[in-house]
Amino acid sequence: MLDSLKGFGLTFSQMFDKRFTYQYPFEIRPTAPRFHGRHVLNRHPDGLEKCVGCELCAWACPADAIYVEGGDNTEEERYSPGERYGRIYQINYLRCILCGLCIEACPTRSLTMSNEYELALDNRQDLIYTKEQLMAPLLPGMEAPPHPMRLGDTDTDYYVGRERATTGAGEHPAPTGAERPEGGR
Ligand code: SF4
Ligand code: SF4
Repeated sequence: MLDSLKGFGLTFSQMFDKRFTYQYPFEIRPTAPRFHGRHVLNRHPDGLEKCVGCELCAWACPADAIYVEGGDNTEEERYSPGERYGRIYQINYLRCILCGLCIEACPTRSLTMSNEYELALDNRQDLIYTKEQLMAPLLPGMEAPPHPMRLGDTDTDYYVGRERATTGAGEHPAPTGAERPEGGR
């Protein structure tokens, strides 16, 4: 009997505690700034793609969630500076555990993660995101690929030259706003 009263007393006291429940999806709260959400494939300031189709992200993924096929750039049809670009790029969000290892592996800072977490759908096929869905939007001043390199004659001008100009040799430039949509890393 005493134990029952203690139990009811505990329940009763909890009724007046502060509530932490909120009414999602009607009330959406911001995530932590470095929250790992949906991926983004970023662009250079002229609109060319940063992805070079190297597949390092796919190899780093512990869940085998990324599929990449590289393609060759030509002078007539160029999607990224240098030789190669990501011709096919897919992330399977049925597998992805949003661990972020892929973005650590990416050598060009092409792949980053946004704060978007609403990835629930009612069918499996639509959870395989394609390159078109993952590409960052064109910002003012950017031109949709394919087009020639606008920032220099070689891919070095897109990386080493810009890095030296902005931060000094050997220092990695901070990611731009375009690389970190909605504050993601
Ligand atoms: S976040 Fe992790 S699980 Fe998801 S694609 Fe990247 S490496 Fe794979
Ligand atoms: S996203 Fe980065 S790591 Fe993945 S294929 Fe493109 S350049 Fe390579």
